[in-house]
Amino acid sequence: MIIEPKIRGFICTTAHPTGCATNVQRQVDHVVIKGPIPSDRKRVLVLGCSTGYGLASRIVTTFGSGADTVGVSFEREPGEAKPASAGWYNNRAFENRARAAGAKAVTIEGDAFSDAVKAETIEAIKANLGQVDLIVYSLASPVRTDPKDGVTYRSVIKPYGAPVTSKTLNTATGEVSEISVEPATEEEAAATVKVMGGEDWELWIAALAEAGVLADGFTTLNYTYLGSELTWPIYHKGTLGKAKADLDRAAAAIRAAHGAEAAHVVALKAVVTQASSAIPVVPLYGTLLIKVEDELGLGEGPIQQIDRLFREKLTNLKLDDEKRIRVDDWELSEAMQAELKKRWAALTTETLPALADLPKYREEFLKLFGFAVGGVDYSQDVDPRVVN
Ligand code: NAD
Repeated sequence: MIIEPKIRGFICTTAHPTGCATNVQRQVDHVVIKGPIPSDRKRVLVLGCSTGYGLASRIVTTFGSGADTVGVSFEREPGEAKPASAGWYNNRAFENRARAAGAKAVTIEGDAFSDAVKAETIEAIKANLGQVDLIVYSLASPVRTDPKDGVTYRSVIKPYGAPVTSKTLNTATGEVSEISVEPATEEEAAATVKVMGGEDWELWIAALAEAGVLADGFTTLNYTYLGSELTWPIYHKGTLGKAKADLDRAAAAIRAAHGAEAAHVVALKAVVTQASSAIPVVPLYGTLLIKVEDELGLGEGPIQQIDRLFREKLTNLKLDDEKRIRVDDWELSEAMQAELKKRWAALTTETLPALADLPKYREEFLKLFGFAVGGVDYSQDVDPRVVN
């Protein structure tokens, strides 16, 4: 079949197998060209392994440090005439390349929040890795069912305390407008912490510890976004920021139980992913950031960020006051932020083309689903069940 993008709001409901495989190959190439990353962490569990920062983490540990991995993600399988989710294609493309390179790569597709998937993952670790030296927690989900009581919680992306008015962008039309978002209720804020906070991270570490599959001296990383003052009202000071603050609490609890180096929250830069496209205001900030970072020669996508995390930051650990590792240093540099703030103030529908880069943002969004990938012939018939 010929597979074309079908965009519904901030999601694309189709994905292209060849485009996804090409994306994975390019990320592998990025790491291989930069050369090996010496590390003792050879047995790695990646939660949220199929796209964005989790996929990049799996690629960097495998192709940079020669690690064997178990990955967990939530995917849709293909049908005879129905494309799979992009993450399903990415998982298959990753496994093919990892195994060809001599690395073990086992992927579990299911709900990482459930006890059943935790048990299945532990069995896969025992059978394939023995134990794990590194656990990367990179889940981004709008919903979580608590395995203890079966209650389903939904996260909301809203301000906390007071309403927020901000500029925003309709990425389909290029229109810049003002939105006002009402603050979350206490119940909504608590639900967001339930979904995106540290509780499930702690449950994973507890389950792995109880099963005896955590290696001595293991480390676990969880990814956060602190970001620019421009997005603070909707993000850092909003419900998602509350959930992210809970990661700092969970990291401290894991360190208290397992040692000073056992857990770190890692602050990463804003990139275009399925998760970030859904956040109001963030796509407008993203179109500006893409332009300014390219002009300053500091542009990075997920693979560049995660490569820098493992190659430079983890080998020479420097922590901020909250004991976080910072890879958002370029995004938050004074030069970058001063330029972003200046342009933000001048942003209108008319000035957007000169100040920001919406075409590149759209291209990055399509690439998440294997579209707009250079070198792929989209007029070719493909079998949606096959990915190389
Ligand atoms: P993403 O949407 O690309 O990836 C999310 C991953 O979680 C996918 O592999 C998906 O399959 C998996 N997942 C979702 N629900 C699941 C479930 N129930 N069970 C199993 N797997 C599930 O997201 P991302 O942007 O790479 O985000 C990963 C982390 O990085 C998040 O904590 C996010 O807050 C953080 N982060 C993102 C940005 C950004 O700009 N995108 C910036 C800094 C930090």
